[in-house]
Amino acid sequence: MEFSEQEFKHVHYAWDDAVAAKLDEVDQLVYRSNILGADQRVTNTGGGNTSSKIMMTDPLTGAEVEVLWVKGSGGDLRTSKRDNFASLYMEKLNRLRTIYEATPDNGVKTPIEDAMVGKYPHTVYNLNPRATSIDTPLHAFIPHKIVDHTHPNAVIAIAAAKDGKELTPEIFGDEMGWVDWQRPGFDLGLVMGAMAQAEPHLKGLVMGGHGLINWAADNKSCYDLSLALIEKAARYIASRDKGDQTFGGQKYAPLADEAKEALLVQVLPKLRGLVSQQRKFIGTIQSDATILEFVNSHHAARLAELGTSCPDHFLRTKIKPLYVDWNPQTEAVDALLAKLEAGLAQYRQDYAAYYAACKHADSPAMRDPNPTVILIPGVGMIAWGKNKSESRVTAEFYNCAIAVMRGAEAISEYVALPKQEAFDIEYWLLEEAKLRRMPADKEFARNVVVVIGAGSGIGKAVAHRLAKEGAHVVCADLSAASAQATADELTGKYGIGIGVAGTGISACGPAIGLGVDVTNRASIQAMFKQVLLAYGGIDNVVITAGIFISPDSTGHIPDDRWDITFAVNVKGAYLVADEARTIWEAQQLPGSLVITTSVNGMVAKKGSVAYDTSKAAANHLVRELAIELAPLVRVNGVAPATVVAGSAMFPRDRVISSLTKYNIAYSEDGDTESLRNQLAEFYAQRTLTKLPILPEDQAEAAYLLLSNAFSKTTGQIVSVDGGLIEAFLR
Ligand SMILES: [Zn+2]
Repeated sequence: MEFSEQEFKHVHYAWDDAVAAKLDEVDQLVYRSNILGADQRVTNTGGGNTSSKIMMTDPLTGAEVEVLWVKGSGGDLRTSKRDNFASLYMEKLNRLRTIYEATPDNGVKTPIEDAMVGKYPHTVYNLNPRATSIDTPLHAFIPHKIVDHTHPNAVIAIAAAKDGKELTPEIFGDEMGWVDWQRPGFDLGLVMGAMAQAEPHLKGLVMGGHGLINWAADNKSCYDLSLALIEKAARYIASRDKGDQTFGGQKYAPLADEAKEALLVQVLPKLRGLVSQQRKFIGTIQSDATILEFVNSHHAARLAELGTSCPDHFLRTKIKPLYVDWNPQTEAVDALLAKLEAGLAQYRQDYAAYYAACKHADSPAMRDPNPTVILIPGVGMIAWGKNKSESRVTAEFYNCAIAVMRGAEAISEYVALPKQEAFDIEYWLLEEAKLRRMPADKEFARNVVVVIGAGSGIGKAVAHRLAKEGAHVVCADLSAASAQATADELTGKYGIGIGVAGTGISACGPAIGLGVDVTNRASIQAMFKQVLLAYGGIDNVVITAGIFISPDSTGHIPDDRWDITFAVNVKGAYLVADEARTIWEAQQLPGSLVITTSVNGMVAKKGSVAYDTSKAAANHLVRELAIELAPLVRVNGVAPATVVAGSAMFPRDRVISSLTKYNIAYSEDGDTESLRNQLAEFYAQRTLTKLPILPEDQAEAAYLLLSNAFSKTTGQIVSVDGGLIEAFLR
């Protein structure tokens, strides 16, 4: 090995002989892939692929045959398991080559090139169902056993430098060749295979405008080589780094954290509304030193306009980001908002012009023309995606693009891919087919739902119900710890996603937990601020927070307990709605609000006068808010009855006092949950359906009222009470 383990400064060397020795050849491929993917400097999330040509036994003939194991479509090197790899007969792959070469009109971007993709299923070994990737021929036709293809920022910097071809021998000596940019596919595989064949001294190629490919005879040698090549490239770049003068030096200073957050809170809802006019997006904020150095620089505007280079990058970041030329030191937020609006309009026009200029007769229709990356001096980057994970990947890829530009500008001059080449990737029919194969978005996939009271009972059930529909769920509760516990449950269930970018709370997954006191407007504002920084906006709010005060021994509720009852159950819901309203109005996107009231608001009875009157007021609050927030936001109420199971509003003493009130015999030693079940069963017998009411029943109603199923219903209260005649509305 060229470098000893300790000598690697720009990548993390992770090969462990003891681990590898225990693995078969396929698992060694998986191991090699995982440790390559674990280092962001080696490859980006989802980027690159690896392969091994392995002798295996044919299941039918029993003969030893050569099988290409290669990372399949989708997935990620860091997290890939054995079943993420396709397995294909080499002999049959070579037959495809014969067919391709016998076709008169062959070459890059010809119909036969794309048609080869449809033939891969005929080459599958052992019925392996993993779909093959477009990059399969890059591995199949390199005449070496082990191949790594990665997207290291340091090598892409060379690949995207104006004189990258001349720099390649200077940096790597004669063991590395150069292949000009060509859209990945069957033809590129043959071109690179022929180079490797013709020049047996080559260990790999720098792929112009794209990345790195290299090969070896065994797994460890190939891993060592990949890391050594990246280390060499990174050292060469570091020795020429421009330091303070990177990107022409700093033009603006970053804003202080507090000012930056205050600005983002004002900008984000409006911005989300503007980029979400066709389809809603979820945001990720990146505001670390690396991104700030770029956005604050003299050359940011010029470089941003050039766009990104590696095809993997710009499929997410789009052809270019929107850079807003705003001076954080002298201009106010209004000027920024005006420039964002004008910038977005211009961006959409540019995008339509790019589409019109580059499209072919059979190109798919133009996609959403809004930028997915927005750069603001003093502040950083706001990236957008169809969900949190995707927006974090988008942010990550623009981070990569910045590293590439920094490297390329240090050693030469950065050149982006020609627009037509970018278009032919972005609107490639094979990419379109891949998009069409993706499962449809879940109903709440592009939504951010804030559930107040998510720490227990109905709120917790609502959080779970909406997460199941793909929602990003903000779990808020007076108890920050219980809110976090619910958020952790959701993240544990649905995963944090594949992206790795995001600063502070914006580096979150599909759920966050926050503390909030609904009786305190400042506390509500602080909560929404975190929501905006995490996701960029809100779509739906569910308020299940409530308080029930039992009367004292004289049957009275102390005066101050009246106040707290109304402060939580009525004014609290109003304050949350009022603060959400500011965001909804700035976004100008449709939203919905559900408030949990109670059938007690309709049924008068002894022993709960403060609670019952507060819930009657909450019912009317639903109607008032429906009028206030129309037409943008629908407001409805769910009126539960006697949800006892898991409810924070039914502590042991309330359960016992209710059992006593109804003359139900109970055991003093019974655990709280069994006493609750006893009470729930008693309540069930009073209803028409005779069924106990669960938090999940309330959650189902809240979900339906929020959803488009009830898109034409607002200002209504739905009782979920098992059928309680006294609570029938009239
Ligand atoms: Zn690639």
